[in-house]
Amino acid sequence: MLLSFVIPVYNEQDSLKQLTDEIIANCAPHNYEIIFIDDGSQDHSFAIMEELACQDPNIKVVKFRRNFGKAAALQYGFNLAQGEIVFTLDADLQDNPKEIPKFLDKIAEGWDLVSGWKQKRNDPWHKVLPSRFFNFVTARAFHLKLKDFNCGFKAYRKEVVKELSLYGEMHRYIPALAHSLGYKITEIPVEHRKRIYGHSKYGMERYLRGFFDLLTVKMVTQYAKSPLYLFGRVGLIATLIGTIIAIYLTVLKIFYNQPLSNRPLLFLAITLILGGLQFVSLGLISELIVNRSVPLRPLPVSVEKTVNIQKKEELDLESS
Ligand code: UDP
Ligand code: MG
Repeated sequence: MLLSFVIPVYNEQDSLKQLTDEIIANCAPHNYEIIFIDDGSQDHSFAIMEELACQDPNIKVVKFRRNFGKAAALQYGFNLAQGEIVFTLDADLQDNPKEIPKFLDKIAEGWDLVSGWKQKRNDPWHKVLPSRFFNFVTARAFHLKLKDFNCGFKAYRKEVVKELSLYGEMHRYIPALAHSLGYKITEIPVEHRKRIYGHSKYGMERYLRGFFDLLTVKMVTQYAKSPLYLFGRVGLIATLIGTIIAIYLTVLKIFYNQPLSNRPLLFLAITLILGGLQFVSLGLISELIVNRSVPLRPLPVSVEKTVNIQKKEELDLESS
């Protein structure tokens, strides 16, 4: 069986050699291909990967012209991957390749996506706490019981990665996207090592972006086919409450002759009715857009160089 390892790399020069050795040592008796996606590194990462690829034709390297982000790198690697089972790992050695056989066992049990769970995280508290919160919210938003959505270490049956289409920073929500397509997903505890070389590429801004991506993924997975269900519901409820208040005020005015000029409630009623109607029309417009839209285009990336990647694969990629 062929295993593909898709590895996004952004300035990870010091860990690449050891990572490659560890992967190769842990995937026997299977064949492997390692696909490094150099996401615009400014250090010596590419030169090192190129050297590794020259010694081993199973190692393939794609060099992006600039930094396009982890999701774009993964998506490009997914398109290239030819193995029956596709792994993703971070390049920073925090994921330990000795766990590979455990992932394979789970896939053999019939799961489509096996996600790593960094049970004991070796990261600073200011990363661990927000991440717990992120996982809690995401699990509830998508009705998917995982404790760790954003672990870089995952194994997929090939069909899963061929169907995913990532954009923004949606790599964090891959399990949610796959779940919405009906794939069976499970989780296994994995060892998480401390980062020894280099430094983390994500700071606090990841949580703000992550929140927006949560909204997008929720929208794409649950309401893409019928956005009016979402907007219409909110709009109708608001309009209804506004109308009830307006009727109440009208009764007071007509039957009890109370002035309306000093009633803040009147403004609430107007806002609710107008806002509500806007939501309903937004829903209708979204319906029109959805009904005319073409499938999502892949993330725009620009490739500068490749190593060990044959023309045919590249052509497949262009046409996909
Ligand atoms: N990465 C990437 N492009 C980016 C940022 C990160 O390819 O723009 C890669 C990075 O080299 C690493 C993985 O994504 O292999 C995870 O990044 P990092 O370890 O910084 O994330 P953390 O572990 O802090 O969540
Ligand atoms: Mg890391």
